[in-house]
Amino acid sequence: LPLPSRAETPVRVLTIAGTDSGGGAGIQADSRTMAMCGVHACVAVAAVTVQNSVGVSGFHEIPPEIVAAQVRTVVDDIGVSAAKTGMLASTEIIEAVAEVCIEVGIGGDRPVPLVVDPVCASMHGDPLLHADAIEAVRSVLIPQATVVTPNLDEVRLITGIEVIDDASARRAAEALHALGAQWAIVKGGHLRTSELSTDLLFDGDRFLEFTSPRIPTGNDHGGGDTLAAAIASALAHGRPVPEAVEFAKEWVTKCLEWAYDLGSGHGPVSPLW
Ligand code: PLP
Repeated sequence: LPLPSRAETPVRVLTIAGTDSGGGAGIQADSRTMAMCGVHACVAVAAVTVQNSVGVSGFHEIPPEIVAAQVRTVVDDIGVSAAKTGMLASTEIIEAVAEVCIEVGIGGDRPVPLVVDPVCASMHGDPLLHADAIEAVRSVLIPQATVVTPNLDEVRLITGIEVIDDASARRAAEALHALGAQWAIVKGGHLRTSELSTDLLFDGDRFLEFTSPRIPTGNDHGGGDTLAAAIASALAHGRPVPEAVEFAKEWVTKCLEWAYDLGSGHGPVSPLW
């Protein structure tokens, strides 16, 4: 992707998500990824997590009106070319985010594309979304998505489909599209049945597959955030969705090769070089 010259204002992307005190996932992963992809990251904090490389031990939700106000103030003054949601924690925050996105022109059939990463839990199984908020993910958040990027656990929670092979992945992508996402990605990274990691992309018409080698590493914290942030960055640079996904898939594969150790648990996927 083209890097701006020093004097030029770069394109801007907004991430609406949770923080990670360990700096591995969430808003920290988003901001690093976006910077590496040549875009300026604006951040609307939806929740503060208490987190290290071993897990999430708690979180504090930001009042929904403050989350929405962060979005509004950024768009009013700075302007963004793409946006991304990550951890939104509750039904109330999801509703406030959907409402403000509609108001300011983000997502749906509006001018600014929105990548929805429907974050439900950490890789350790620590909840990042209240169980009763999954219905709001389905009915309020996903309809705003230009692209929705669930992992296989999230696919099961949202659609009820257990992805075990290509046929079930296609059914899941169709179900996500039927919920109102323009494009749905079913990420195969957690399907450990082959040496390859294949992501399936569907727009209601055609299926596209993106395959990369599976990179064996324990430093895989925040991989989903990094992928979604790279997609949003490429969209902000004006790339169409299939190209943005192709770029992001290559990006995450490279990041997994370069991921470093941190703490006693899982190091971050998002880049630092
Ligand atoms: N913490 C926050 C704030 C996140 O947004 C995410 C993922 O989206 C995670 C933690 C979980 O990352 P992982 O699934 O790699 O543990």
